[in-house]
Amino acid sequence: MASEHRHDVLIIGGGNGGISAAAHLQRRGCRDIALIDPVERHVYKPLQHYVGTGIARDRELTRSQASLMPAGVDRHRTTAVEIDPVQRTVRCADGTVLRAADIVLAPGMRIDWEQLPGATRAIADGTAVSTFVVEELERTRERLEAFDGGRALFHVHDQPASGLETAFKPLFIACDLWRSTGVLERTEVVLVHEGARLHRVDAIEREIRRHLDDYGVDARLGTRLVGIEGDIAELDGPAGRTRERADLIQLHPPYAAAAVIADSGLDGPTTGGFAAVDPETLRHPEHPRIWAIGDGADLGDARTGGALRKQVKVVVENIRRSRAGLALERYDGYTVAPIATSRRSLSFGEYDRALRVRRSLPVPDEIRSSPLWHVLDRFGLPQAYWHRILRGRL
Ligand SMILES: Cc1cc2nc3c(=O)[nH]c(=O)nc-3n(C[C@H](O)[C@H](O)[C@H](O)COP(=O)(O)OP(=O)(O)OC[C@H]3O[C@@H](n4cnc5c(N)ncnc54)[C@H](O)[C@@H]3O)c2cc1C
Repeated sequence: MASEHRHDVLIIGGGNGGISAAAHLQRRGCRDIALIDPVERHVYKPLQHYVGTGIARDRELTRSQASLMPAGVDRHRTTAVEIDPVQRTVRCADGTVLRAADIVLAPGMRIDWEQLPGATRAIADGTAVSTFVVEELERTRERLEAFDGGRALFHVHDQPASGLETAFKPLFIACDLWRSTGVLERTEVVLVHEGARLHRVDAIEREIRRHLDDYGVDARLGTRLVGIEGDIAELDGPAGRTRERADLIQLHPPYAAAAVIADSGLDGPTTGGFAAVDPETLRHPEHPRIWAIGDGADLGDARTGGALRKQVKVVVENIRRSRAGLALERYDGYTVAPIATSRRSLSFGEYDRALRVRRSLPVPDEIRSSPLWHVLDRFGLPQAYWHRILRGRL
C-alpha cells in the first residue's frame, strides 16, 4: 500500500525556485516542509553558456542536490505524477502520496526536441551544437574553438524559454573569440531571430543591435527555424520559406511544460501546459492554496533566476498572508536580461512587466555593456547562487 506523508508546505521541483523557496520558508519559521525532485546533480544554468564557450570550467556548473537541501526539509527523490488540487495530495512515481496545506509548483520546463524536426540528428552528426544542453557543452566548446570559417547560424526563438535573452550570449562570445583568431573575417554570422524585434525594451534592443553591427552579424528578424536536414536549415521568414546551408548551427531548444501540470488540470486554456497562475499574487486562479513560481509557471517572459529571486519572496510571504487572511503581496514581473557581448563584457538589463527599466546596481546605466557586469555574472552571481540564493539569504 502507498505510504502517505502529511506536511505543512510541499514544493514540487528542487531547482532554483524550489530550493530557494524551501530555504526562505524555513527562515520564516515554517518547520514542516517537503520537497519532491528526482535529480542527483543541481545545475547552475547561467554558467552553461560560459562552459559551452570555454570561459568557465565544467566542474563549476553543478553541485550535489543533497548538499544544497536545507537541513530539516523532507526530500523525496522521485517525480510528482499527479496532483489533486482539491484534496491537496500529490502522487509520486515511487508510489508515495504526500498531502499538504499549501503546495508550491516549481517544476521548471524541459527541452522538447520533438518540436524541431531534424534537431537531434543534427546534434548527433555535429552540425548543430547548443550551450543550452548540459550534455552537449564540451562538444559545443570544441566545435566553436575549432571552427575555421564558413557560415555560422545562431538561433533565437520566441517561444516560452528559460533565460530567453541569454540565447544571445553564445553568439557574441563566439564572435569575439573568432575575431581574436581572425576566423570572423572569413565567417558569415547569421542570427535567425523569431521575434520581430530584438528585445521589447528599447534600450536593451539598441544595445543588442550595437553589438550585432559591430561584429557584422546578418540579423534576420521575424524568421523561424522550422527544421534541419543535414547541413541545411529550413527557415520561415518575411520572404517565405528558404533553405540555407550552414557549417555550424547553435540551437535554441524548444521547451515544454512538465507533464504533471496539465495531467493534473493545473494549466489553463491559454498557458500551453504551464501552470495557470495570477501573475501578481502567484496563486492558482481556481485553487487558492496552490502556488506557482519559476519557469513552470505561465508568467510571460519572466523565466529567469533574477525573476525568481523576487517571486520566491512574494510566494513565501503570500502563503503566510493567505493563512492570516491578509491582502496578498504583488509581484511586478521583474526580470533580468544578462547578455554577454564579448568574452569579457556584459549588458545587464533589468525590467518589469510594464517594460520599465529597473536598476539594482548603484550605477546610472547597467544596459551599456561593461567588463564590471561580466565579472558580476561570471564570478559574483555563481557564488551568490550557491551560498546565498539557495540558502534563502538573498
Ligand atoms: C542555459 C541557460 C542560461 C540561463 N542564464 C540565466 C542567467 O544568466 N540569469 C538568470 O537570471 N536566469 C538564467 N536562466 C534561467 C534560470 O536558470 C531559470 O529561470 C531557473 O533555473 C528556473 O528555475 P525553476 O526552479 O523554475 O526551474 P529549474 O531550475 O529548472 O528546476 C526545476 C526542477 O523541477 C524538477 N522537476 C521537474 N518535473 C518534476 C516533477 N514532476 N516532480 C518533481 N520534480 C520535478 C526538475 O528535476 C528540476 O530540478 C538560464 C537558463 C538556461 C537554460
